[in-house]
Amino acid sequence: MTGRALEGEAALVTGGGKGIGRAVVDRFVAEGAQVGVLVRSAADADDLVAAHGDRVAPVIGDVRSWDDNLRAVTTVVERFGRLDVLVPNAGVYDFSVPFEDQTGPEIAARFDELIAVNVKGYLLAARAALEPLRAMRGSIVFTLSSSSFYAGGGGVLYVTSKHALVGTVRQLAFELAPEIRVNAVAPGGTRTGLGGLASAGAEATRLDAIEGFDRMVAKTVPLGFLSEPEDHADAYVLLASRSASRFMTAVILPSDGGLEVRGG
Ligand code: NAD
Repeated sequence: MTGRALEGEAALVTGGGKGIGRAVVDRFVAEGAQVGVLVRSAADADDLVAAHGDRVAPVIGDVRSWDDNLRAVTTVVERFGRLDVLVPNAGVYDFSVPFEDQTGPEIAARFDELIAVNVKGYLLAARAALEPLRAMRGSIVFTLSSSSFYAGGGGVLYVTSKHALVGTVRQLAFELAPEIRVNAVAPGGTRTGLGGLASAGAEATRLDAIEGFDRMVAKTVPLGFLSEPEDHADAYVLLASRSASRFMTAVILPSDGGLEVRGG
């Protein structure tokens, strides 16, 4: 890639107030893009504007809401005149609660909440962005996970949600070609405050507060360390860049320290 990869382009990142999404926003801005960001809180919106001024357009909302997704897309198009790249990224975690430790009614409630954020939120963002993306022959870069391929990085609800998204990437890549490329980054363990489910009483629980999380990930991955959100950002730039990945769609790019070769 020569020059700035996203010069003059506009993107929308959901869940971009913190963690991996925030690292993607920062990197996209550095690559010349203007970025709409769907966030949960006014504090996240203020942080983004303090860092990037009018190169970002935060929208406070909930990815489970069609209206909020539509408002985020409309804001980007109104503010920046176009939409080239959508990054559906907002997610929640189940903190690996064993299946058997949950009652049927608990599973029902937690399924509804987790799948609504992790899967429905992605579908609604993609649907809301369809027309402006098609107009620019743009692309979608979803955040998947090592839990899209492997067991043990979450509980059954989280792993189910991230496996489901493999189908989302494939089907949308199939249906939206040739106008819109559809790809994904699949990060492995990353130091973020990924949060839990209100329906499990775990809304305030954070991944990076788990005692020994960094050591556990470092032991599991061949490259031997817990990644930071910034470690994944260039993978998003690659898949968002028309010149760098013009012939790539339905690609799910692992950024996981080599889990595939971790051995027995
Ligand atoms: P994070 O908590 O820093 O980011 C998630 C963001 O989603 C937060 O900003 C949060 O406010 C937002 N969000 C949650 N529910 C929302 C809702 N209903 N509406 C709008 N926004 C909502 O955590 P992260 O680890 O950066 O997570 C980003 C993505 O990366 C998620 O999809 C997660 O599953 C995935 N992921 C994380 C890891 C990891 O180890 N941290 C590994 C692989 C994949």
